[in-house]
Amino acid sequence: MNSSSRIVIVGAGIIGSTIAFQLTRRHSNVTVIDGAAPGSGATLASYAWINSRDKEPRHYHDLNRRSLDMWSRFARDLDADVGLRWGGEIRWAATESGARELLDHAERLRSWSYPIFELGRHEARALEPGIVMEPFEAAVYCGIEGHVDTQKVVKACLNHVQRAGAELITNDPVASIDVQPESGGKAAANSVTLASGRRLDCDVLVLAAGYETTQLAALAGIELSQQKSPGATIVTEPLSPIFRNVVCMHTPRDLPEPLMNVRQFADGSVMIHGGTHNGSLGDTSDDDAEKLVSEIARFIPSLADARVRQIRRGMRPMPEDGQPVIGFTESVPNLYLALMHSGVTLSALTGEFATIEILDEARIDLLEPYRVERFTH
Ligand SMILES: Cc1cc2nc3c(=O)[nH]c(=O)nc-3n(C[C@H](O)[C@H](O)[C@H](O)COP(=O)(O)OP(=O)(O)OC[C@H]3O[C@@H](n4cnc5c(N)ncnc54)[C@H](O)[C@@H]3O)c2cc1C
Repeated sequence: MNSSSRIVIVGAGIIGSTIAFQLTRRHSNVTVIDGAAPGSGATLASYAWINSRDKEPRHYHDLNRRSLDMWSRFARDLDADVGLRWGGEIRWAATESGARELLDHAERLRSWSYPIFELGRHEARALEPGIVMEPFEAAVYCGIEGHVDTQKVVKACLNHVQRAGAELITNDPVASIDVQPESGGKAAANSVTLASGRRLDCDVLVLAAGYETTQLAALAGIELSQQKSPGATIVTEPLSPIFRNVVCMHTPRDLPEPLMNVRQFADGSVMIHGGTHNGSLGDTSDDDAEKLVSEIARFIPSLADARVRQIRRGMRPMPEDGQPVIGFTESVPNLYLALMHSGVTLSALTGEFATIEILDEARIDLLEPYRVERFTH
């Protein structure tokens, strides 16, 4: 691919933005289009925990782990404060059977070289005196995990992209894709037309439109079904620091609902991500949010008077089997798909690897399990 090849990226969430960032670092001719405001999709609602905790099978765990390990370099390359905080996650179990499950899972992760360790009651309390870990049977702590402010990441990527001379089009969704048949039963995506009527020709088309990627891929004749996975996070007004060492906490899975994850932004506001054993908080009303915050105060007393500032809702981009879809497609060889859950964790890797695959026409072995053709072959 030469430097004048026109690359159109649809979607300016964390995935489209990181791909655009890496492509423009290599002086590509890029246009980024978002149908709304950049970063306003799943990326806004995201809990943004960078981890490789509950990722199965092994290759998917390894992919997330590799991306986790790439995050510090990615943040340095962005050359902006993106709220990246390391310090790990603590969670504990309240019952004997819950403790067995927690420790077995940790042991399995350690056998994959993931540094997650058991803490006794006194160690756990010493690590985080502000959390009331009662009832307590066992705790685990993994120090390599972190979180980030996704809005700052998107902004930093797109600032760079625009400084590099690329065009960013916002609030103008792609309405159609012109796909023309080619030889050998293949086709080429030649242009996209926006709702405003503007047409953009392309040599490579990247679809990174989150949940809407399914609909857009269908315009190019590609079937890419997803699970329906609505999610929500609650953001409170700023509070004093609640953690001393860790940056994320998870309430026990073996206690009655709801399950909640808690993290704190640099400005002191607290993000709560949660759910029930059957799903997440996608349908939570504003009143429920206040109730959830007060419920979690039994574990974090400093949240007792917290006021809800915002509820962020979004659809998780979630391919049918829960794993990413990344790469060029066989039937439309100039169409590149980038659709995934855990896209915050995976964005560091996806931006770099997609750029190599697009510009160098290389196929990265580690991405082979994630091609869209796995659903059809
Ligand atoms: C509640 C929740 C919690 C999560 N927690 C975590 C976590 O802890 N860790 C983690 O790693 N991941 C987490 N995720 C997943 C992660 O947030 C997503 O995988 C990631 O944000 C996906 O980014 P994206 O850029 O692919 O999609 P999105 O952020 O959805 O961006 C897609 C963009 O495409 C645009 N678009 C859509 N249609 C069109 C069109 N026709 N034309 C032009 N533009 C279009 C949208 O406007 C949007 O801006 C969570 C997600 C949710 C919802």
